[in-house]
Amino acid sequence: MAGIYIHIPFCTKACNYCDFHFSTSLNNKTAFVEALLKEISIQKNYFPEGEIISTVYFGGGTPSLLTAQELGAIFKSLYKSFKISDSAEITLEANPDDLSAEKLTELKSAGVNRLSIGVQSFYDEDLLWMNRAHSSAEAIAAIKNAQAQGFDNITIDLIYGVPTLTEHKWRNNLQIAFALDIQHISAYCLTVEKGTALYHDISRNKSANVDEDQGAEQFEIMLEAMKNGGFVQYEISNFCKPGWHSRHNSNYWLKEKYLGLGPSAHSFNGFERKWNIANNAVYIRSLNEGLIKDEKEVLTDHQQYNEYVMTSLRTMWGTDLMEIGQRFGKEAMNNCLKDAEKYISSGDLIKKENKLILSDKGKLIADRIAADLFIEKN
Ligand code: SF4
Repeated sequence: MAGIYIHIPFCTKACNYCDFHFSTSLNNKTAFVEALLKEISIQKNYFPEGEIISTVYFGGGTPSLLTAQELGAIFKSLYKSFKISDSAEITLEANPDDLSAEKLTELKSAGVNRLSIGVQSFYDEDLLWMNRAHSSAEAIAAIKNAQAQGFDNITIDLIYGVPTLTEHKWRNNLQIAFALDIQHISAYCLTVEKGTALYHDISRNKSANVDEDQGAEQFEIMLEAMKNGGFVQYEISNFCKPGWHSRHNSNYWLKEKYLGLGPSAHSFNGFERKWNIANNAVYIRSLNEGLIKDEKEVLTDHQQYNEYVMTSLRTMWGTDLMEIGQRFGKEAMNNCLKDAEKYISSGDLIKKENKLILSDKGKLIADRIAADLFIEKN
């Protein structure tokens, strides 16, 4: 169940909240694709021989900025270097303003079978506030055009906790999404990351700050609306119609192996994590010399345990005490259960057979609970 992630580090406009790695100058795009093809070839033995790749995910940045030729060359190189399953889930993140009828045809014929569309809100004033490059009408048209072209696995991103997003608008955003008959929704609470335009605007009193209570209220509204809309919450920020979960992201949470390609992309081979340099020019230059500029970290048992708790607790499958016992020993399992007791008593955690699962109430404090279950507390 291994996966490949490809980071396309270009955007036409910088959204005010974004701290992903990207450049708004497209000057290096051709050189980047050439470097990426070299990286694919160098990494062809990353997985053990015979490993089948079940998911490929183009993220960014804005992968929908790739031309048909660029995407075609990347796919050709991927299929040459890796054993990609015939039934692989192949996702591409796209911004609505890129999804013309022609682009959708190109993506479909290239082999993309899942589209992740960055909608964020169906209100233009919110999009303007976020400095998004598209309008609400473009987002709706993009989804409908994609469906008309035969894309039957569509996810959209939405953001809540935005100062301009009232409770009424948030409820409407969810209802509009449900009416569009999509399969999956990722919904994130706005956070203010250091170094972003939003962070600077708030520091200079040019923007309203993010209100944690508003985020928590909108989270609760969302949980109820998603249930009524027929969406299953299989991870704190991810909801799907039954059976339509993201196979790629589920692999991350289930600690499957993945290879990340492109600047800033992370990889994990079961015990070692590595991440590529988050600098387009250095990435290109080093690959021109046949080298991958990256950093590596071998995870200690404690780190692996903490990561397992952090990621598994956020999913509907929960944290498996038996798995902790098998992987980290009986003492770790007993300590985990002991630390969990107070949250089980308060109703934030539910113990179901050997699993610890967050209740709706507990989802609001998921990070705090996970940190309390860690072996090395923060
Ligand atoms: S389009 Fe996506 S990656 Fe690019 S700036 Fe906006 S949020 Fe960040």
